[in-house]
Amino acid sequence: IIILAGAVAVLGEVYGDLLRAAGASERLMELLSLESPVQSPGAPVPAVTPQGGSALRFEDITFHYPSRPAQAALAGFSLEVKPGQTVALVGPSGAGKSTVFGLLLRYYDPASGVIALDGVPIHQLSLHELRSHIGIVPQDPVIFSSSALENIRYGKPGASDDEVRAAAHAAFADEFIAQLPEGYNTFLGERGVRLSGGQRQRIAIARAMLKNPPLLLLDEATSALDAQSERMVQAALESAMKDRTTLVIAHRLATVQQVDHIVVLDHGRLVEQGTHAELVAQGGVYAGLAALQFNA
Ligand code: ATP
Repeated sequence: IIILAGAVAVLGEVYGDLLRAAGASERLMELLSLESPVQSPGAPVPAVTPQGGSALRFEDITFHYPSRPAQAALAGFSLEVKPGQTVALVGPSGAGKSTVFGLLLRYYDPASGVIALDGVPIHQLSLHELRSHIGIVPQDPVIFSSSALENIRYGKPGASDDEVRAAAHAAFADEFIAQLPEGYNTFLGERGVRLSGGQRQRIAIARAMLKNPPLLLLDEATSALDAQSERMVQAALESAMKDRTTLVIAHRLATVQQVDHIVVLDHGRLVEQGTHAELVAQGGVYAGLAALQFNA
């Protein structure tokens, strides 16, 4: 029963975090079937709260999903991200990009290697504190059946209406919300106003900005948005990336062109890294992907 209670507590925390981050339901399903939930340390080390973004270090990470012990989802992955930097992860489907996010959030622990946030190995932080330092903008954000105001407040329960509006403004969501029938009080979701893909993303960006974490994880949508919506989402992302460290799973040319550093994954390994221009000039994996994948 103690073991069961522990598992339920961990699932409860993970479930709450996920809902808070409004992650994809697919991920929720994945989590609910977790085979080995991670443990929060008995005596956690306090996290550092840096100004201007977290420093992040992956040191020789190897990881296999429990259901697939024979195949490394990440192998020998090392990466150093300086405070305030934006790093894009690119690579073919199954390369390991989402796995990097999953390990950072400690949905799983690596088989070997260390991930450090501001110099502290993440397994020494409490799960709650670790996740409170990370904002997530998922590919297809969940919109809850509640008002626009409450949908954004989810990023920081207890935030004042003014804080919510300021976050919406910074995420370029203010204008479309003002045009809804009842503005910020308009009911959204299944039984309310349905939002476009670009509008849902801006709600998710506003949630993340309200949370104001030093580290942001963005999973860009693969589906194309119309040009106007695309510009608004891009502007919102630029605003969200400012003064914080960002890891982005990138699918857009506009994004990869502006990031500080691009990391190319293939079969769980880091195969190339550099700027967009450098990698295109190399004519390797990235150049091939870029030609096929990026929607301008
Ligand atoms: P995509 O662009 O399609 O999202 P990705 O680069 O994010 O791909 P990952 O999702 O990190 O790739 O997957 C890396 C490898 O791990 C793949 O071989 C994938 O099939 C496998 N994998 C991912 N999630 C699980 C899971 N929950 N259980 C078992 N294997 C998984």
